[in-house]
Amino acid sequence: KQINWNALASELTNIEIITEPNQVTKLSLDYYHFSPILQSQLKDKKANLIVRPTNEAEVLQIAKTCVKYQAPLTVRGAGTGNYGQCIPLEGGVVLDTTKMNNINWIKPGLSCVEPGVKLIALDKKTREIGWEIRMFPSTYRTATIGGFIGGGSSGIGSINYGGLRDRGNVSAVRVVTMEDEPRVIELRGDDVQKVNHAYGTNGIITQLEIPLAPTYPWAELIVTFDDFMTCAKFAQALGDSDGIVKKLITVFAWPIPSFFAGVKSSIPEGKHCAFLMVSEYSLASFQDLVKEFKGEICYKKTAQEASKGTPIYEFTWNHTTLHARSVDTNLTYLQSGFPSDRNLALVEKMYRHFGDEVIMHLEFMRMDGQTTPVGLQIVRYTSEERLNEIIEYHEKNGVNIFNPHTYILEDGGMKTTDFEQLEFKKKVDPYGLLNPGKMKAWLER
Ligand code: FAD
Repeated sequence: KQINWNALASELTNIEIITEPNQVTKLSLDYYHFSPILQSQLKDKKANLIVRPTNEAEVLQIAKTCVKYQAPLTVRGAGTGNYGQCIPLEGGVVLDTTKMNNINWIKPGLSCVEPGVKLIALDKKTREIGWEIRMFPSTYRTATIGGFIGGGSSGIGSINYGGLRDRGNVSAVRVVTMEDEPRVIELRGDDVQKVNHAYGTNGIITQLEIPLAPTYPWAELIVTFDDFMTCAKFAQALGDSDGIVKKLITVFAWPIPSFFAGVKSSIPEGKHCAFLMVSEYSLASFQDLVKEFKGEICYKKTAQEASKGTPIYEFTWNHTTLHARSVDTNLTYLQSGFPSDRNLALVEKMYRHFGDEVIMHLEFMRMDGQTTPVGLQIVRYTSEERLNEIIEYHEKNGVNIFNPHTYILEDGGMKTTDFEQLEFKKKVDPYGLLNPGKMKAWLER
């Protein structure tokens, strides 16, 4: 059915609307191009218009108008997702949340914000009263909190608090529905999971309550090792050292450190590295652990020094892939979950099996109470067929792959159908207008 976009736009009085073609193109895309597979599938997708509401009342007006015209609506934060999460497969309206950037309140342990607040802005504010956000993606300086909850998974801080979907990491959300008469629904506690990491397919989040952690002065360190597995086991031991307060534990096999223009001059050639954020108050004990594993600290910044220049976390998590691709665009990545195992036997098996074709990058997280590595391995891409073989080999050996080369919700991080999310979508988006094409369970219902 043809939609009269001018008529639709004319009903959105007083709301900023963008129709300039270059701007629309830019605001229709994200970082899908990390994947050679998604590149060809998504590069031409484009919205018909972009809207930038400033408050919930305007979101309700947009939702009502889109339902009236049966127009697809896709929510966008900062557009830093990696799997085309906010790319409108069927065109339509892209709702950009970046003007909904109020921090409503902050109290010890909890904050309440609008979705377009940038993570860095929220964190700066909470630090003023001695608290910080529990975890953030390496896109901390650009990403929005709504986008992180809608499309992210974990990040810096996950060594203490696990992933975003872990119970308690999002306290409450308010969502606007896509019914004939859109409503606001508040979800709290476990009910948050109905929309948490759902790619905006079943509600427009207009407010979030985000729990906080006590803040520390975080020193930044790089420790090097001659042997990769010693480096990985050191990282595991650091994660398991309950008395050492830390926020980031990342491990890179050489040559990944050579991709980092900003710090490579500090790292001796050929060394495997751990990139870390450790509380300044824990540094003496930390150094004893480094000595035990015969590591060398080659880079060290106090929290004060770290506030200038490129922060260390911008080499970790998926920033690693960004740096790798800036050196060689044939490099891409995988996302994998290894089982909890202090000996890291499966990490070692994969490391030895693939050598330089799948270069080890591990992020350590707390999962079900245990320090566990997830892989964001850098892959030397040759063909889709070979990539699938690599994925199959991992899965056959018991490594879970959260495929970053698909825009389908269930085929990526979620792995299985979330029936609760599907049921919620049936209720709040009966016409299937929210981010169509992303939730497989909806298409196959
Ligand atoms: P967007 O990309 O704009 O949106 C993400 C998804 O959320 C979309 O499906 C969108 O529809 C939905 N959404 C946005 N706002 C709302 C809303 N208000 N209501 C409902 N749905 C909404 N991710 C991690 O988890 N950890 C990392 O460490 C990490 N590192 C990254 C590094 C790089 C270099 C890049 C490019 C990406 C990285 N990512 C990482 C992915 C991404 O940056 C994060 O997930 C980020 O938090 C997304 O925020 P955003 O504002 O850009 O969201």
